Amino acid sequence: MPGFELFGENEKQSVQDVLDSGVLMRYGFGPMRNGHWKAREFEVALARRMQTPHAHVVSSGTAALSVALASAGVGAGDEVILPVFTFVASFEAVLAVGAVPVLCDIDDTLTLSPEAVEEAITPRTRALMVVHMCGSMADLDALGAICRRHDLLLIEDACQAIGGSYRDKPLGSLGDAGCFSFDFVKTVTCGEGGGIITHSGEIYAKAQAYSDHGHDHIGEDRGAESHPHLGYNYRISELHAAVGLAQLARLDAFIGIQERHYRTLWQGIESLPGITGRRVPEGGRQNYSFLNFFLTGPEKAREAQKALSEAGMDGVFYWYDNNWHYHRRWEHLKELRSLGPLPPETARRTREANEREFPLSDAWMGRCLSVLVKLGWSPEETRRRAEILKNVLGELAQ
Ligand SMILES: *Cc1c(COP(=O)(O)O)cnc(C)c1O
Repeated sequence: MPGFELFGENEKQSVQDVLDSGVLMRYGFGPMRNGHWKAREFEVALARRMQTPHAHVVSSGTAALSVALASAGVGAGDEVILPVFTFVASFEAVLAVGAVPVLCDIDDTLTLSPEAVEEAITPRTRALMVVHMCGSMADLDALGAICRRHDLLLIEDACQAIGGSYRDKPLGSLGDAGCFSFDFVKTVTCGEGGGIITHSGEIYAKAQAYSDHGHDHIGEDRGAESHPHLGYNYRISELHAAVGLAQLARLDAFIGIQERHYRTLWQGIESLPGITGRRVPEGGRQNYSFLNFFLTGPEKAREAQKALSEAGMDGVFYWYDNNWHYHRRWEHLKELRSLGPLPPETARRTREANEREFPLSDAWMGRCLSVLVKLGWSPEETRRRAEILKNVLGELAQ
């Protein structure tokens, strides 16, 4: 998945442009810039690629989620439903705007289960945060219909699925707002960065101001700008945006490489007994950043991960036990280990909403393995990995 595997001359030149101009900030300093507005160019390119009228880039994917929620008006008293399988950033962003994160079961898409979402909705639910985990998407038809029926916002976390699509629309472009991360391990990286895309002029206007202290960005004199609302600083620097702009131009090439590697791995194991692929909703096209599949049970999954690692295969994830992408390792959320006190109402309701078991999700995640698909593998390296997968899993299936 990581774009850093393929940094090249364009990334270097783009950074050099910024250093030569000496303006490392995205706003102001017009006469000094030599025409370089990398963050702005990155936004124009992102909006074009994602087929939305608006894009705004910020300092991280976590910032993108926080800004998207804030700009859509989510705040204290609101509940946001999100999946038990995601990166911790998802609930961090909800807490950052003062809202209550409500964890919800996933299904065999490894993303929010529409049935479980229906059950989690209360009169205070304001938004659904769908997370397109590990390269593939949620059932956006079903979840979109739920949002319309209950008048909920649909926020897409597409940080791990940039470049994928659903019914020919780019992931991130189907909800009220979509968010991307450009951190160091994502498909498109600029070191640290994030992006928000939206069809809503109102959400965009708020997002660009909110992420820069509420500045209205009207006129040429930054010091004279007014502040229509409160804000924060989630700005991206020109240096980061310069790398992101160069990387985004390669997104489709990256997806093409990932798809080739993915298919080579999958072809070797798809017909093995006891192996089932993760369900990709009809009309969906993955970004192929991970190959995800189920074994017959948790014992087999643990055994397989161990055997694969012993056979020299790295980048195989058993999220259920090992990583902080699954609710079983979110003690810090469940026990509300905040540094200072949280607002009492948010704290109480966060605890109440999440003090429960998730047996449906556990049943899927307990037998799921994910193999990271890298961009930099040579054809021999990809074939070697495919061989290991096929041999190890073939033997386990006996
Ligand atoms: C990486 C990631 C984020 C957060 O992005 P950062 O840029 O690291 O803050 C959010 N959600 C998901 C699903 C991610 O994978």
